[in-house]
Amino acid sequence: MTHDFDLVVIGAGSGGVAASRRAAAHGAKVAVIEGSRVGGTCVIRGCVPKKLLMYAAQYGDGLHEAAGYGWDLGEARFQMSRWADAKTAETQRLEHIYRQLLAGSKVELIEGHAKVDGPNRVRVGERLISAKHLLIASGAAAVRDSIPGIEDCPTSDDLLDLRSLPAKAGIVGSGFIALEFASILARLGVKVSLFYRAHLPLRGFDEDLRTRAAAALQAAGVKLHPGMAPRQVQRGGDHWLLFDADERMHEFPFVLNATGRRPNTQGLGLDTLGIVLDDAGAVPVNTKLHTSAAGVYAIGDVTNKWNLTPVAIAEGRALADSLFGPAPREVDLSLVASAVFMLPPLATVGPTEADLIAAGRKLKVFEADFRPMRQAFIDGAERCYMKLLVDADTDKVLAVHMLGADAPEIVQSLAVALSAGATKAMFDRTIAMHPTAAEEFVLMREATRINPAG
Ligand code: NDP
Repeated sequence: MTHDFDLVVIGAGSGGVAASRRAAAHGAKVAVIEGSRVGGTCVIRGCVPKKLLMYAAQYGDGLHEAAGYGWDLGEARFQMSRWADAKTAETQRLEHIYRQLLAGSKVELIEGHAKVDGPNRVRVGERLISAKHLLIASGAAAVRDSIPGIEDCPTSDDLLDLRSLPAKAGIVGSGFIALEFASILARLGVKVSLFYRAHLPLRGFDEDLRTRAAAALQAAGVKLHPGMAPRQVQRGGDHWLLFDADERMHEFPFVLNATGRRPNTQGLGLDTLGIVLDDAGAVPVNTKLHTSAAGVYAIGDVTNKWNLTPVAIAEGRALADSLFGPAPREVDLSLVASAVFMLPPLATVGPTEADLIAAGRKLKVFEADFRPMRQAFIDGAERCYMKLLVDADTDKVLAVHMLGADAPEIVQSLAVALSAGATKAMFDRTIAMHPTAAEEFVLMREATRINPAG
C-alpha cells in the first residue's frame, strides 16, 4: 500500500525537526505537522529565551563585580522591554532558520493541529494525510491543575513574554524552572519568594547540590519557604493570593506556576490507535522508541523520560536512522548530563551519592568547596562546590556534581570522560590547567569520606 508520506511527524520542536531532517536525508518522504511556532518549547519559549534572560541577569552581577575590578560605571538599570524586543527578534530569527532547514531538507511543513484518525491516518483541519510511519513528538506543556486555583497563574511561557517586571513574585515549585527563574528574577531586582513542599529544592539531585542551591538562592535574596506548598491560589484583582496549610495568606502581583510539565497528548487521537497513556499522560515506548501500535513511535518530552532537548534530538535521529538508515540503533541514556541555569549554575552527570549507596556501591567521595579567584579578589561571597563519586572497588568515576560559575560548561566536558569509563587515576594523571576552577577536578587527592563508612 502506498502512503502520502513515509514518515509523518507530529511536532516541529527540536526532536521532531531532527527526526524529520535525518529521515529525509535517508531519502524518506517526510512531513512535519506543527500547530504553533516552528522550533518548539526549547527555541521559542524555553531553553533559548530563558538562557538569554539568564545572561541579562548575569550582566547585573558583572556590573556589580566590575567596581571591585576598578571600573567606575555609574548607575545601571535593566529595561525588560528592551530585552523583550531583542528576545522576540532572536526567536524569530531562529524560527526562520528552522523553517529554512526543513525546506532545505525537503521536509514538508504542514501548519495546523494534528489529530490521529486511525492507523496510518492523520487529519490536519480538512486535510487527511496517510503515513507509513507516524512519530509523536508533540512535547509537553505546563501543568495547570496541580493546586486549586493555579490554572490561571502565569507559567514560564508567560514570564518570558513580560515587557516589565513585577516588584515582587511568588514562585510555586522547586524544580528546574522554579530555581532558574527565582535566581534570574532576584538578580533583576524582583523580590522573590519560593514556595515548595520538600525540605530542599531540586528533588532528585545530589543532596550536596540541593543544600548549596538553597544557600545560593538565599544569598541572592530569595525568601525560601520549604515544606510550604500553597493549598490554594486565588486571583484578587491585580494581585494573587497564596494560601498555605495554616491559612496564612501571601500576596503577590505575580505568581509563577512552576509545578512541572505534562506531555501534550490530549486531543491527539492516540486512542484511535489503541495506545494507552501512562498516569502522567505520556506515551509509553520501548528502548527502540516504538509505541504499542505498529508503525507508531514517540520521542522527547511526550514520553516523559528525560525531558531534555538533546535527548529528544538524539532520539529523533536514532529513530530516523533505524527506520530509514542502514541499521537500527538505540540511544544510550545511561549517562545524561544536565544543568540548572541558576546563578551560579549547577550541573551534574551520573547518579547521586544517595542513589549509589542505595544501589550497594562502595564510594570514595572527593569534594572541593572554595571561593573562586574571581570572587576572592572582590571579597565576593559566591562559592564553588565540586564533587566526584568514585567506585571504591574499581576506581571508576561514577558521577560529577558541581555548583559554581561555568558548571554546565565544565561538566559537559567531564561527561565525555565518564562515558569513556575514566578512572580516578586518569583524573589524577591529567595535568591541571592553571588558573582555572575546573583544575580542582584533577587535583582532588584525599577522599573526604568513604561511603558507606566501613
Ligand atoms: P520539575 O519536575 O523539575 O519540577 C516541578 C516542581 O513542581 C517540583 O518542585 C515539584 O515538587 C513541584 N510540584 C509538583 N506538583 C506540585 C503540587 N501539587 N504542589 C506543590 N508543588 C508541586 O518541573 P519543571 O516544570 O521545573 O521542569 C519541567 C521539565 O523541563 C524538567 O523536568 C526538565 O527536565 C525540563 N527543564 C529543563 C531545563 C534545563 O535543562 N535547564 C530547564 C527547564 C526545564 P516536588 O519536587 O516536591 O515533587
